[in-house]
Amino acid sequence: MYTKSNNWLNAKIKAIKKLTKQTWKFTIQFDEDFIFTPGQFITLKVRGVQRNYSIASFSKNRNLIELIIVKVENGKLTTILFRDVEPGENIEIKGPKGNFTMPENTNRDIFFICTGTGLAPFKSILDEIELSGKYPKRIFLIFGTRTKNDLLFYDEMKKMVKSIPNFNYIPVLSRENWEGETGYVHQQYNNIVKNEKLQNPLFYLCGWRNMIVDAKQQLSNLGYDSSNIKLELYG
Ligand SMILES: Cc1cc2nc3c(=O)[nH]c(=O)nc-3n(C[C@H](O)[C@H](O)[C@H](O)COP(=O)(O)OP(=O)(O)OC[C@H]3O[C@@H](n4cnc5c(N)ncnc54)[C@H](O)[C@@H]3O)c2cc1C
Repeated sequence: MYTKSNNWLNAKIKAIKKLTKQTWKFTIQFDEDFIFTPGQFITLKVRGVQRNYSIASFSKNRNLIELIIVKVENGKLTTILFRDVEPGENIEIKGPKGNFTMPENTNRDIFFICTGTGLAPFKSILDEIELSGKYPKRIFLIFGTRTKNDLLFYDEMKKMVKSIPNFNYIPVLSRENWEGETGYVHQQYNNIVKNEKLQNPLFYLCGWRNMIVDAKQQLSNLGYDSSNIKLELYG
């Protein structure tokens, strides 16, 4: 069994699945169980290039983890992953790392705010909540993306709405009209904060700099500071 390690662990890419044209799911298989807390990330090294990725899964099968990775134009590692790598490729992993994890006391309102592959750590946390049956008081997942086709794990999320009590899933599209919410993530938490009676809310923000900087500012305008906000900045 692997617990936290500062050494590189040998693993391999077991499967690659296209979730959307630009975002693929990579299933990683370890030789032994890989122990982590949902919300954490790992460092992935492929063909000498290393980058950090949030773990996007949690299952009873502890020697498997899933990553969801978006292709970045001319990105060094993502070009290798999307162009050259196939299932069976030997890779190395370091970790788990980070404390973007659930608080001990979950008798409070939890907000997960993300765009794109920033959904990854929340998917892992939700998988674990569903599996354990230990439900926090209330969760609001606000997930921003462009079009319906970009709604990562849409079916899984709809299923969790039924299986996890008080789980509110709010997908928001910025470039397509549909039956759900449109615009940006910011309007959604602003509405909830203004209209709901919240209990000691804790805000998790995950993704790229622009969304995170805006959200921090808007939450500060609403009266929340770093003691109520946890960040995972992708770049
Ligand atoms: C803790 C942590 C967890 C992460 N988890 C994930 C994850 O789960 N999924 C995931 O897809 N990425 C994740 N990332 C980002 C990832 O580490 C890489 O930065 C990303 O895959 C690009 O690597 P690259 O080598 O292809 O591009 P590089 O050659 O390193 O860089 C390309 C340039 O594009 C910028 N850039 C990269 N991605 C974007 C983007 N989407 N939008 C705008 N600018 C961008 C970078 O800042 C850089 O300037 C995470 C980063 C951190 C720090």
